[in-house]
Amino acid sequence: MSEIGLLRVNRDRLRTDLVRLAEIGAYDDAPTGLRGVRRLALTDEDAQARRQVIEWMREAGLVVRIDRIGNVYGRRAGIDDSMPCVLMGSHIDTVTSGGAFDGTLGVLGGIEVVRTFNDHNLRTLRPVEVGFFTEEEGVRFGVDMLGSSVTAGRLTLEFAHKLTDDSGASVSDELVRTGFDGPEPERRPIPHAYIECHIEQGPILAAAGVDVGIVTGVQSISWQRLELHGEASHAGATPIEHRKDAGVAAAAVILEIRRMCESGEFGGLRGTVGKLSMEPGSTNVVPSGVRMTIDLRNPDDDAMTAAEAHLAEFVSGLAAQHGVAGILERMAKTLVREFDPGVQALLAATADDLGLPYVVTMSGAGHDAQEIAAICPTAMVFVAGEYGGISHTPREYSNPAACGNGADLLANAIYRLASQPAG
Ligand SMILES: [Zn+2]
Repeated sequence: MSEIGLLRVNRDRLRTDLVRLAEIGAYDDAPTGLRGVRRLALTDEDAQARRQVIEWMREAGLVVRIDRIGNVYGRRAGIDDSMPCVLMGSHIDTVTSGGAFDGTLGVLGGIEVVRTFNDHNLRTLRPVEVGFFTEEEGVRFGVDMLGSSVTAGRLTLEFAHKLTDDSGASVSDELVRTGFDGPEPERRPIPHAYIECHIEQGPILAAAGVDVGIVTGVQSISWQRLELHGEASHAGATPIEHRKDAGVAAAAVILEIRRMCESGEFGGLRGTVGKLSMEPGSTNVVPSGVRMTIDLRNPDDDAMTAAEAHLAEFVSGLAAQHGVAGILERMAKTLVREFDPGVQALLAATADDLGLPYVVTMSGAGHDAQEIAAICPTAMVFVAGEYGGISHTPREYSNPAACGNGADLLANAIYRLASQPAG
């Protein structure tokens, strides 16, 4: 890159777009008193945001295409346009109480990288693409990294199309309704490499006093649904020893998950019960049924397998202890994914050239990059967040300097990858 020096993105332009996109799906978040973002996959809000991002892609000169799972790619031609492209991107759907940066930084940062290339009339040997993937969060249809896992071939298009939300609307219906049932094959042409720039969503970077991180991989993620079946009975008249209280059994499961995490028996296990409902849901009735979700994370596949086995055994023991039958159902599972050492090394060298201190870290959260890593050399750039890197809340915040430094690292790494000859 000596002939052009190091690239710097336009931080104000990137900031402006992040703020503008956060207005789509904005809501008043009562617990925090802040404006949050609620843009679940393939809702009207998501569709509006998709159209806005596509408009920005086109303004940056990108040629846009949409595939059959609704993933969107914007392409900038290379000097040799027949070569595999260098891909960057992330997602623009959010959780129900989201912020302005999760996913969007990688997509809008990618568009800003293209604009920066344009500003310098910079042509690259290989084509460059910016993409965003459908239903990364998994909040609406129950399977996270949905679009990227279909693209990578881990899940089939047919499976994905049939998934439904709580109201019974299917992915395929919603793709059609929103106009994002694109014609392109979901198994896209294999890229030369993929880099996803994403907020860290954790405290490690800020604690180290750096703005950026280079991600070595993503830990294993297991999502299960647990149904507990007890018996409804009178809250006053039923003696304690006669109860089949599904609520008490649910509490036992939640506390056992916490104990498993704290015990160290299952490596670096993290477990969360984030969704729970009770039947019949009356003040004066012993609960007969509970439905809950269990989210387990582990940086080690064997420790994850052991944790799942222990949990299954604990659930089957609820019958003897509480008279409550438990049924565990798998929602999703991904194994530990290591990122490409070559792309990580290129990112490290680029950060050094930019004078950006960085940390090397594993991701605690799932990302589209773990899916795309199955089809091409992949790595991630993390950007530090404030308030301990808190995310999935309107408090999520990464300052303009951190976002800009992350996008600078992305721009220069993408330029270098896009300059690599074949072979
Ligand atoms: Zn994300």
